[in-house]
Amino acid sequence: MKEEKVLISTRALTKRFGQKDVLRGIDCDIKVGEKVAVIGPSGSGKSTFLRCLNLLEIPSGGVVSVDGEVLFESELTAKKDNLEAIKKQIKLLISGENSEEVKAHRAEAGELKKELEKTNSLLKEGSTKVKLLKVKLARGTGSVTQEDLDRELANLTSLGERKAELKTRLAGVNAKIKQKKSEAKALLDKDELARLKAAKAEAQEQYLKAKKAHNASMKKTNASIDEHRRNMGMVFQHFNLFNNLTVTENIVLAPLSLGLKDVKAKKKQLLKRKLKGEDVSEQLAALPTKLELAENAKATARRLLKRVGLEDKADVYPSTLSGGQKQRIAIVRALAMNPRVMLFDEPTSALDPEMVGEVLEVIKELAEGGMTMVIVTHEIGFAREVATRVLFIDEGIIKEDAPPAELFGAPKDARLKEFLSKVL
Ligand code: ADP
Ligand code: MG
Repeated sequence: MKEEKVLISTRALTKRFGQKDVLRGIDCDIKVGEKVAVIGPSGSGKSTFLRCLNLLEIPSGGVVSVDGEVLFESELTAKKDNLEAIKKQIKLLISGENSEEVKAHRAEAGELKKELEKTNSLLKEGSTKVKLLKVKLARGTGSVTQEDLDRELANLTSLGERKAELKTRLAGVNAKIKQKKSEAKALLDKDELARLKAAKAEAQEQYLKAKKAHNASMKKTNASIDEHRRNMGMVFQHFNLFNNLTVTENIVLAPLSLGLKDVKAKKKQLLKRKLKGEDVSEQLAALPTKLELAENAKATARRLLKRVGLEDKADVYPSTLSGGQKQRIAIVRALAMNPRVMLFDEPTSALDPEMVGEVLEVIKELAEGGMTMVIVTHEIGFAREVATRVLFIDEGIIKEDAPPAELFGAPKDARLKEFLSKVL
């Protein structure tokens, strides 16, 4: 059975934390029924990618769509970067910093400073050594001689001279920088400045436009974010079960509160219509009661627990369960929302080795049942067997995207080859 419908898609997806670009432009389509394994070195952005898919993390830029409908879209960061870059260029031009001569001298000054730092640390080391030698010499054990001390003192002297010389040279270079800067300022290229200022105005305008579009998009995103998240079940490395709730209570918590919210919203709508004189008594009576919702949620929980072989654990507390059992419960909890896609973030990484199998088995059965899934994993054997497609993410970019036989059998990317040689 082959389905080609795209469920989730990203375009030029980026995420920045502070100064760090964690995702640097991810284009990815996840089709209905696909089982996508995501592999890559630690810190490469795999978790961030998953979290951006269900908007647990708001991306910095790009597009996230579900069913072809844009859920998030922003060029804000890109436009801001562009504006900042032009501002910097103007600053450099006005200050004379971008004259070739100034740049060359700056580089020279940089080298001298590095050299100076090195000399300073050698001086520090040297004077510690001298102190030590003096102490040893005073003890007179014979292991240290006056000659040793003299040699070290001479070394210190020459380092001191070197330091003085470097400082003089640095002062000279700094003076040259100052002079060249003022020369460059005097010769300021007015045309270039005018060109940059026009570019800045244009960039400013684009930025403001992007800001407006971003805000509008975020409004839309926020409105549909709950709906979006409930379609995506997420399972983390750590199970995050509530220890003060029983297994069933953990499982029904989210579906029940969502169900109640839905009923409340429907009721409100119906009452509005009633106020307008419409007869809605039948629809009102048909709304499920709180008790019915709870019974339904519990029945679903029982059915799913049975499916993962844990029906006898319905009423126990999570603390009595093994790691493998907890993770199976976490999977059930996600499934209870009846999601259209499951996102797994290293679901077996925190487990003792003997429990990995039982969790992978549950995931495999889900896959065989047709569930669409994205799974970040280090279990290469599992990815090979279950995935229909494997993504290799490295430094925030999808470096390779291929069916498992191809990706593992004939990797092309050099970093992927290196990665596989470590994990296989
Ligand atoms: P992976 O799952 O591939 O190991 P992550 O997506 O967890 O990588 O993290 C990628 C990079 O982003 C790491 O350098 C991490 O430190 C950084 N990062 C992740 N989340 C945050 C955050 N909330 N704030 C700041 N930096 C983060
Ligand atoms: Mg991770």
